[in-house]
Amino acid sequence: MYRTHHCGALRSTHIDQTVTLSGWMATKRDFGGMTFIDLRDRYGITQLIFNMDTDRGLCEKARGLNREDVIKVTGKVRERSSKNPDRATGDVELVVTDLTILNRAKLPPFTIENDTDGGEDLRMKYRYLDIRRPVVQDQLRFRSKLTIEVRKYMDEQEFLEIETPVLIKSTPEGARDFVVPSRLNPGQFYALPQSPQTFKQILMVAGMDKYFQIVKCFRDEDLRADRQPEFTQIDCEMSFVNQEDILRTFEGLVVHLFEKMINVSLGEFPRMTYDEAMAKYGSDKPDLRFGMEINSFNDSAKGAGFSVFDSADLVAGIVLAGKADEYSNKNMKELTSWVQRPQIGAKGLVYVQWKNDDSIKSTIGKFYDDATLKTWIEAAGGQKGDILFILSGELDQTRKQIGELRLELGRRHDLIKPGDFKPLWVVDFPLLEWDEEMNRFHAMHHPFTAPSLNDIDKMASKDRSVLENIKADAYDLVINGSEIGGGSIRIFDRDLQSKNFELLGFTPEEAEAQFGFLMNAFEFGAPPHGGIAFGLDRLCAVMNGVSSIRDFIAFPKNNTGRDVMIDAPASIDDLQLKELNLNVVDLEKA
Ligand code: ASP
Repeated sequence: MYRTHHCGALRSTHIDQTVTLSGWMATKRDFGGMTFIDLRDRYGITQLIFNMDTDRGLCEKARGLNREDVIKVTGKVRERSSKNPDRATGDVELVVTDLTILNRAKLPPFTIENDTDGGEDLRMKYRYLDIRRPVVQDQLRFRSKLTIEVRKYMDEQEFLEIETPVLIKSTPEGARDFVVPSRLNPGQFYALPQSPQTFKQILMVAGMDKYFQIVKCFRDEDLRADRQPEFTQIDCEMSFVNQEDILRTFEGLVVHLFEKMINVSLGEFPRMTYDEAMAKYGSDKPDLRFGMEINSFNDSAKGAGFSVFDSADLVAGIVLAGKADEYSNKNMKELTSWVQRPQIGAKGLVYVQWKNDDSIKSTIGKFYDDATLKTWIEAAGGQKGDILFILSGELDQTRKQIGELRLELGRRHDLIKPGDFKPLWVVDFPLLEWDEEMNRFHAMHHPFTAPSLNDIDKMASKDRSVLENIKADAYDLVINGSEIGGGSIRIFDRDLQSKNFELLGFTPEEAEAQFGFLMNAFEFGAPPHGGIAFGLDRLCAVMNGVSSIRDFIAFPKNNTGRDVMIDAPASIDDLQLKELNLNVVDLEKA
């Protein structure tokens, strides 16, 4: 027998019992006559004690152990003279009478402690050692519990968990597909699903009514910080529902998860239209943990002879409270360079400091008198002591830039309370998004999203601005500035779906070739339906107040898309290539 208890189990109720434990040797402390060992497994740490006087040979064997050796010990539980209140097993220790070395360990390349000396790359290469650290185990435990809570809630609501295939045909969801060559069908490829979108809709046509799946999705996107080429969604779909039904059902899920997982009650989620989110926060995923809403100064700023403002589509400002006296020229210069970084892309930063001595310091004092600038600050909800920051230019760009500046100032000035959660539904997304470069429309959500009932007629228009204004029954769940989920009511009518593909630039033949199966299904009694998908990894991260989703993935890829432990992707040998009808020589020539 390897163990009678695990390493987190022993309490004072076990005193005088003889028990057997197995685990990893975490730390060892040798004193004159005694050796103390911390034995670790997934459940906790137990202190072992070896005594020179009672058994010299055994104690010497213990002294010869290395960190991470796998051992089995038997002994008697006794009360500790100096208790450790920070440890669940801290009241007791095990006086060892028998020690078996089950396996030796090489010296680990970093310390296996919460506060490790190992850098990210090294830890990922030896992820099995990294995962032995209690913090990482806690994160994986959290994720496991979360998925189980999802299943409980969904089961109670009568959803069925149904698996959909991983080898499928390309589904456009805005990213590139990963493809898999088919050996049996030379020259043909499967695609890995960007999401099970079409399958879950087909399941609704099939009458399954309520579907969910905790499912891996694959997107071959250019890597950005905190993107993983494979990630997990809680994917859901329901029949005979409207947007309100979906929002209510899944608000229920999220409230349930926050309560069960972190004991936070979220209350009712506010709703905000996409237009309002863009205008007030410069983002479709506003972080509502602090204010600093964006104000337009178009009316007051234009026409004073300041050509930068006169020629701008938008003159937008945000007020930073109470910092007017604090910001030096150097601070302003630094912040100006920050907004000018290519990632933000603003041309310059205009500011108005209303100092506590009532004076105004501003970059635009030549064009506007102090009294006017004070009214601007007041109009934006500010007062004496505050700073107004202004960006201007093309509408969408300026909104995004000032939205980024808002977030940066929120971070710099600690405007975000730790442990605060601010969920909201963003609704009324546009159906279509114009792609300047490609000179065509993309689906803002995906091509299966239904236009709002009132806007269906607009789909017949040839006018770009009319088409751009079509709203969709699409919604996102945002928490603390992170997009946690998104979905839509779907088109369930063949003709409307064809029309949508046409607006997206598909010829009827292309639409038929790619999505004929779905449109055909729509002709056999498709119910009205809609759904949503949540990012499981991101939900874990947001609930724990951490920024990286990698922390909650057992084997994440690094920021160049590599698994550094197994060293993938990797080349394959010529024979394998040949079998797959992939001629590497030709590919290289091409
Ligand atoms: N398939 C969508 C996504 O992955 C979610 C949905 O519309 O249900 O974003």
